[in-house]
Amino acid sequence: MAFSVRMKPLDVPIYEPGKPIAEIRERYGLDAVIKLASNENPYGPSPKVQEALLARLSADPELWLRYPDGAARELKRALSLRWGHPAEGIAVGAGADELIQLIALRFLADGDEAVMGELSFPMYPIATRIAGGVPIPVPMGPEGRLDLPAMLRAIGPRTRIVWLANPNNPTGTVFDRERWAAFLAEVPETVLVVLDEAYAEYVSDPNYPDGPAAVRRHPNVVVLRTFSKAYGLAGFRIGYALAAPEVVRELERVRKPFNTSAVAQLAATLALEDEAHVAFVREANRKARAALRQALEARGFRPYPSETNFLYLPHDDGRGLATRLEAAGVIVRPVPGGIRVSVGTEAENARLLAALDALE
Ligand code: PMP
Repeated sequence: MAFSVRMKPLDVPIYEPGKPIAEIRERYGLDAVIKLASNENPYGPSPKVQEALLARLSADPELWLRYPDGAARELKRALSLRWGHPAEGIAVGAGADELIQLIALRFLADGDEAVMGELSFPMYPIATRIAGGVPIPVPMGPEGRLDLPAMLRAIGPRTRIVWLANPNNPTGTVFDRERWAAFLAEVPETVLVVLDEAYAEYVSDPNYPDGPAAVRRHPNVVVLRTFSKAYGLAGFRIGYALAAPEVVRELERVRKPFNTSAVAQLAATLALEDEAHVAFVREANRKARAALRQALEARGFRPYPSETNFLYLPHDDGRGLATRLEAAGVIVRPVPGGIRVSVGTEAENARLLAALDALE
């Protein structure tokens, strides 16, 4: 029988994240497949966190059998100390992804507009559309930079949200303090500004804006952070928002009661105690990124400037290139106008370069 269940229209394709290693192994019958497609942290989580978490998991069956603390009080306490930000101004989600969805769900009514970079995180237009909103993509500036003045000009009477990723994904670029201050001076107070800092821990640019400080001065600014990247905990799905308590209260109204697991909350809380690991990851990544950039440039690529753990490579057939690399056991991400490669370990980056060299 044909499928004839009625539903509301929804102009959203099924999102394709980076392909899992197992899928490519199976498809091409390959043993050694590496994934440089989802900007995961190849150095992994802090060994101290692993050890402490495993000890707690074996010692404490309550962690397994009870529902988690939906309000994530312990993690919020630790985050509150880390940022000098009140716990009432912190929301915790299953990754920054969930917080993006909750923000769209709560702040957009049908037909409301959300402004974003044309080449930015795909979850912004997707979450906007799912909530009934209308994405307003703004062309990028040079080298894949968000064009903040153009984004300001795109704000109209129906705009409710501006999505800003700093650093931006997939381009890896940042905007500086000066541009951010100019943006804040002009953006209407009635518009929610979502400053997505998923990759902030990787940034070494001294002119990188202080997002959390902006939250304290502007009740319409929300900063998003995640444990998926520099903290190496992508598998647990946990991230958070720093915002005005008024904003957090609204997100709490649309959040599922137990949106993050007890294990994820505990892992994140423990991870905050080992900032030395994050510093190690930042430094290792910075070196590996510089070496990878140089090797790619020697092969004729022109990567955009990046403050992250990935590089955007402009290419006239990104999808074709990604497919050919995949067949060689290297998963990268095709993105509009090129491909995006995560910076891997030295060995992984060497695999990528060898696979590129082997393409005719
Ligand atoms: N924001 C940006 C800019 C990202 O690149 C990502 C991850 N790809 C996220 C948010 C979501 O991260 P997570 O849900 O793993 O916290």
